[in-house]
Amino acid sequence: MLLIDCPFCGPRDESEFSCGGEAHIMRPLAENSITDVEFADYLFMRDNPKGLFLERWRHSTGCRRWFNVARDTVSHEIIEIYAMGKSPRTAAAKAAFTTSWRRDSAAEKAAIKPASPAKTTRGQS
Ligand SMILES: [Zn+2]
Repeated sequence: MLLIDCPFCGPRDESEFSCGGEAHIMRPLAENSITDVEFADYLFMRDNPKGLFLERWRHSTGCRRWFNVARDTVSHEIIEIYAMGKSPRTAAAKAAFTTSWRRDSAAEKAAIKPASPAKTTRGQS
């Protein structure tokens, strides 16, 4: 059993939590066009590494809040727990984040809002 340190409640048994799968998957924005194959990467493709993995966990029978966990899938050692929407802080977890194939995927690039065109002033000439 894992002992997971919920950032809101403190250490609790693994049975109180639900794993939500891979963390840091950004949804492509509607205004950015990508192919169906590229969208399928976002929708269906998930990593399943042997080693350090960045996951989402939910304290489902406690505070019911989500957070991220950097966990070694071989030893089950939890390297780091950090808030949703934040990046990992430890060097190993940062490396797992930056070296993921997902950082270079078309779907993730399409998740970034395009730069807005320069504003024009109306009524002035
Ligand atoms: Zn909690």
